[in-house]
Amino acid sequence: MSDRRALLRTLPAIDKLLATTLLKELAKDQPHLLIVEAAQQTVDYLRCQLLNEKAALPVLDPETVAAQVCARVAELATPSLRKVINVTGTLLHTNLGRAPLCCDALQAITSVARGYSNLEYDLNAGQRGKRFTHVEELICKLTGGEAATVVNNNAGAVMLCLAALAGGRSALVSRGELIEIGGSFRIPDIMAASGVKLVEVGTTNKTHLKDYAETINAETALILKVHTSNYRILGFTEAVSGEALAELAHQHDIPVLEDLGSGLLIDLTAYGLPKEPTVREALKTGIDLVTFSGDKLLGGPQAGIIVGTRKVIDKVRKHPMARALRIDKLTLAALEATLRLYLDPQKALNEIPTLRMLSISNQELQKRCEKLLPKLQDALGDTAELNLCEASATVGGGALPLAELPGGVICLVSKKISLNEMTNRLRRCDPPVVGRIQDNQFIIDPRTLNNEDEQSLLQALREVLI
Ligand SMILES: *Cc1c(COP(=O)(O)O)cnc(C)c1O
Repeated sequence: MSDRRALLRTLPAIDKLLATTLLKELAKDQPHLLIVEAAQQTVDYLRCQLLNEKAALPVLDPETVAAQVCARVAELATPSLRKVINVTGTLLHTNLGRAPLCCDALQAITSVARGYSNLEYDLNAGQRGKRFTHVEELICKLTGGEAATVVNNNAGAVMLCLAALAGGRSALVSRGELIEIGGSFRIPDIMAASGVKLVEVGTTNKTHLKDYAETINAETALILKVHTSNYRILGFTEAVSGEALAELAHQHDIPVLEDLGSGLLIDLTAYGLPKEPTVREALKTGIDLVTFSGDKLLGGPQAGIIVGTRKVIDKVRKHPMARALRIDKLTLAALEATLRLYLDPQKALNEIPTLRMLSISNQELQKRCEKLLPKLQDALGDTAELNLCEASATVGGGALPLAELPGGVICLVSKKISLNEMTNRLRRCDPPVVGRIQDNQFIIDPRTLNNEDEQSLLQALREVLI
């Protein structure tokens, strides 16, 4: 004990560490602040090692300690938000940033972000303009709406519409549609926060038109319809169509708002996916307003899109909350570029990553697996057992909850380390790799793997498994 304590005096001083060749060299491209912080943390750690009798005696000469400081600086200098390789097969993984952007969107962001833009400047008139004008016409063309506006995200869009159309009054919602999306978005809470009184109608599995009709009164300002985007009620069920709701609401001179969740702009049933209403179909029923996300099935940046009749959209735009929820210029640039691709649906399917991954054929996936398998075998030798299997990917992001996307995957089992250890270490690679575990195997789903990332994936697996 006393021997170890005596060694405390030989711990290198921070100044001495900073004077080593290694750290002087490092100071040329790393901030002084980070080097000092790393040095302090390293010395603290070594002090604990000395005081812990069970720990091995650390080496304390300044050059050795400086090398440890360098490693710590590298950790501290790694950006917090960074690229991750997703081999989970979940296309719209909310934890992994939902939709990857298309090339046009990335270019648009760079071009607008580098310098100035006409974000709120009308170049024809030479005077102040509105930011939503950059996408309004496009959204209307693609959905059949009369007018449109955009905000920060769909949760914001729903809150804004509620506050603008029914603030201080009440809105009717079917009991079958009182949904929760990912914890903090729950319809009753969102309504309360928007200052709207929730009036529930019908039951969990069945709501009839007469349930709405009997409840409407002078206090009712709105009918809210919520698409059950992340679950389904099956069996003995009934919900009221948009057409019937619109007719009833308009007899009482109030609007209908539908929160569609995902913003599907083209029908994907041709690719074996379950039927989801497109935005155009939702609006065609005669309801006044639809809101949806930019980064779900639409495959663009995080945004909340609001489209409907001019009269109602004008009201929404004038509400003070619209300013608080306004969309940022980088998002707007990416959204416009993504929406432009939809003018040619085939182009959208080819170039928007989310749509490409959704519509990829089984044979194509099988081919990718057959190409990837020998590369993995080459890289990993006999350290892992590798097999080609069939599995189902999921859409994620609270969209198409029942859709199964069958396709080839590669199943991997390490012969050396546990699954748990393997996934932990893969998450610490650069870039980190996130996969899924199924039947005690690590699944590599090529559906969400970008071709450009294949080399990094192979390298990460080598690092972890060999
Ligand atoms: C996802 C979803 C939301 C929230 O959308 P964000 O863009 O994530 O804010 C709201 N309502 C429904 C029905 C959804 O599916």
